[in-house]
Amino acid sequence: MNHAAEQHTQQQQFRSVPLIDAVAQYYALKPQIDEAVLEVFASGNYILGPAVSRFEAAVADYCQVKHAIGVANGTDALLLTLDALGIGPGDEVITSPFTFFASAEVISQAGATPVFVDIRPDSYNLDTAKLEEAITPRTKAIIPVHVFGQMVDMDELMDIAWRYGIPVIEDACQALGASYKGKPAGSIGIAGCFSFFPTKNLGGCGDGGMIVTNDDDLAAKMRILRVHGSSPKYYHSMIGYNSRLDALQAAILQVKLPYLDGWNRRRRELSSLYSERLRDLPLRLPVEQDDRYATYHLYIIQTSRRNELIRFLNERGVASGIYYPIPLHKQEVYAHLHFGSFPEAEHASEGTMALPLYPEMSEDDQVYVLKTVRAFFIERGEAV
Ligand SMILES: *Cc1c(COP(=O)(O)O)cnc(C)c1O
Repeated sequence: MNHAAEQHTQQQQFRSVPLIDAVAQYYALKPQIDEAVLEVFASGNYILGPAVSRFEAAVADYCQVKHAIGVANGTDALLLTLDALGIGPGDEVITSPFTFFASAEVISQAGATPVFVDIRPDSYNLDTAKLEEAITPRTKAIIPVHVFGQMVDMDELMDIAWRYGIPVIEDACQALGASYKGKPAGSIGIAGCFSFFPTKNLGGCGDGGMIVTNDDDLAAKMRILRVHGSSPKYYHSMIGYNSRLDALQAAILQVKLPYLDGWNRRRRELSSLYSERLRDLPLRLPVEQDDRYATYHLYIIQTSRRNELIRFLNERGVASGIYYPIPLHKQEVYAHLHFGSFPEAEHASEGTMALPLYPEMSEDDQVYVLKTVRAFFIERGEAV
């Protein structure tokens, strides 16, 4: 076979399946999104203004809370909340070591010290059975992270937090649309923080974030903090931030929000098909606890052959990703803090990986991913 013919055969044989497809939703909603964006262009209201207010009201309604405050990104949503709660040097804030770095980064940015609590091996979420032993008189907040779109054991967590009088800030950046015993993610703690990073379940065409809360004073303070601590303009009562949700992003997200529940349902269908067809393989599959509704921000599997499997999939055109390769207590920047060991988080970071998952993923592509994963284990005599 000549080279060109061989290449052609390979192309037919090897599909290319991305881990996520950030642009698919734009094409699905192009006329509406284009119109919304052009409207902002023509309005001249580029900073805050009606597009942002309208989207804030929509998110508050969606999360069944009183206030929603649009900020520049999910990281700032967490940081402004810590700041508004008066958390700073000398304070400790508890979070999970198995999450995106921002969950701990904001604690350091606020001048406080992160304290980690190990995770549950089934949900990868902070293990509330280990929470109480991490609390000290300096603990000023707890940041549970609803990782991969499934909520933390919130009854257990809120019970402990309430007994110690410690505020809870939900890092719900991966969990917009998820719920716990019917309560929306972000609505249980004193505040909930969301990210609209393009790859999140509700993603903009750039950065964006939102804080939701039922606390009137906290909401008022965060609205001031995001505009340099000024109220009214040019009168500064505190040191704030330049951190606002962009009007263009708000307009785009407003168009997308009504589709979020449908997209999350599709993620759940695809995830359940993955789980059904991978059940007999030597893999740890996602465990969905039956009192909550998970949004499958990522479909995570775990195997002792993780790196080999990633290579095998990659050679056959199937993308995958490692979430998270280094638990936060082992990050170089925290070496001086001499955190102890968190064996479950360490074990997870050695074996977890995400398979392709996005609402627009085709059935054929998913079948191809399933076939390729199975082929890996068949080659090793571990599956039929
Ligand atoms: C994405 C994410 C963030 C940060 O959001 P940005 O908008 O990227 O700043 C924080 N925490 C978690 C768990 C996230 O997944």
